[in-house]
Amino acid sequence: MKGSLNIVGLGPGAPGQITGEVEFALMAATDIVGYGPYVERAATPGAVLHASDNRVELERAHHALDLAAAGGRVVVASSGDPGVFAMAAAVFEALETRPEDHGLDIHVLPGVTAMLAAAARVGAPLGHDFCALNLSDNLKPWALIEKRLRLAAEADFAMAFYNPRSTARPHQFETALAVLRAACGPSRLIVFARAVGGADERIEVTTLGEAKAEMADMRTLVIVGSSATRRVGRFVYTPRSAP
Ligand code: SAH
Repeated sequence: MKGSLNIVGLGPGAPGQITGEVEFALMAATDIVGYGPYVERAATPGAVLHASDNRVELERAHHALDLAAAGGRVVVASSGDPGVFAMAAAVFEALETRPEDHGLDIHVLPGVTAMLAAAARVGAPLGHDFCALNLSDNLKPWALIEKRLRLAAEADFAMAFYNPRSTARPHQFETALAVLRAACGPSRLIVFARAVGGADERIEVTTLGEAKAEMADMRTLVIVGSSATRRVGRFVYTPRSAP
């Protein structure tokens, strides 16, 4: 018997920011697999919860595929969007080594990623060209992160940063800010959006010159504007046309 696997995004945390198709998949699930806090958020009365640690993505992906191959209606839950620095790619990486499961009924159901929820809180800082970078060096060398930071700043993108700073690597974000200050100057706007959609949400808008590394933690999404990004009243936006 073959089951199904829905790889879903729960959105950033606000109840209104989860999509209807994801809610529907959760209601129909027999098993929900994911990092502990996300599984808690996704819980439904009819489903068995399979919570795991944050660092075991590939193992978790194989577990989900095992459950689906055995006939379960399985949901793999990520926060935000499952394709953005999250579980969807891990499931496909696991699938590469399991040709017998290539016929499984697998779907990726998108969600509101943190970058878009954060941008919406302050206005429209991503209104022109932008890029998204994961600042964690868990899965890539720091030298590559610095290179991409420099080139993105040079290309004058607005930039969204995921995983900016953690207790395990408190100093790298300071280096990232120094690279950005050198490339963009001290008056460039920067947004720190922490726990967007949650009860402890905190949004700060400042400049690279005033920004301190401590303004970010693992629950913060950071946006650095392009040279055209500006304030209007209490909002921040980037005009549709290039300077
Ligand atoms: N798949 C997720 C991203 C996972 S990486 C998504 O699409 O949003 C984890 C990082 O996402 C965190 O370190 C933080 O930078 C960001 N993030 C996730 N949820 C957030 C929220 N509610 N508020 C602010 N940043 C968030």
